[in-house]
Amino acid sequence: MNTSDDSGAETCVVCGKAVAGTSGVTHIYHDRRPFALCCPMCVDMFQRAPARFASGERPQSVVEDLLADLKWKNSSRW
Ligand SMILES: [Zn+2]
Repeated sequence: MNTSDDSGAETCVVCGKAVAGTSGVTHIYHDRRPFALCCPMCVDMFQRAPARFASGERPQSVVEDLLADLKWKNSSRW
């Protein structure tokens, strides 16, 4: 069977989890397009680099960059 309903196959733009039917799913608008986010952590990540997530870059590499940046900032606090 061919089930191609992309309206119901929404996934979190940050972690890639399916968000259909998930409670707590949020949509953030960037460039007038809605982006689905499954949890506050993903919202936080998205807000740090909305343009990168919106551009279709691999979310995993964006998240890795952001986490590395955060770690660096935390460890270099004096
Ligand atoms: Zn997520």
